Amino acid sequence: MTDDPCVFCAIVRGEAEASLIYEDDDVVAFTDHAPVTPGHLLVVPRTHAIGLEDLAEEDGARVWSVAHLLGRALRRSPLRCEGVNLFLADGEAAFQEVFHVHLHVFPRFAGDTFRISADWRVRARAELDESAAAVRAGLAELSPTVQP
Ligand SMILES: [Zn+2]
Repeated sequence: MTDDPCVFCAIVRGEAEASLIYEDDDVVAFTDHAPVTPGHLLVVPRTHAIGLEDLAEEDGARVWSVAHLLGRALRRSPLRCEGVNLFLADGEAAFQEVFHVHLHVFPRFAGDTFRISADWRVRARAELDESAAAVRAGLAELSPTVQP
C-alpha cells in the first residue's frame, strides 16, 4: 500500500479489494460496495481526477463508452433489469462521496427502492430562459468562440 488515500486509485492499482467487471488501458469497472440494486457498478478512469473540472475529455468519453457497454450488458445479464440509470455525482453537494470521478450504472426495476427526491414542477418559460442564459454565460467563459 502507498500513502495515497484514494480508494479508487487503490482499486485501479489492484491494491484494494473489488469485484471487477471490466478493465482496459483507460478505465476500470467494478461493483459498488453499497449497491442500490444488484449489479450496481462504477466506471472510473484509471487516471485520478476529482470531478468534471479536472477530468480529461478523452477519459470522460471512455468512461461514457464503457458505461454504455455495461448498461447494455446489464440488460442481457441474469440480473433483474427493466431499466438502467447512469448517475454521476460531481461535488459534495451533488452527493459525491469518493473524490475520484466515477459514473454509476445500475439496473432499475418496478418496485426497487432507488429514489431521487426533487421538485419536478414545470417552470415558466421566462425562468427557463434565464437559466439557459446563465449556463450559456458559463459556456462562453469556457469556450469564448462557441456560441449557440
Ligand atoms: Zn483516485
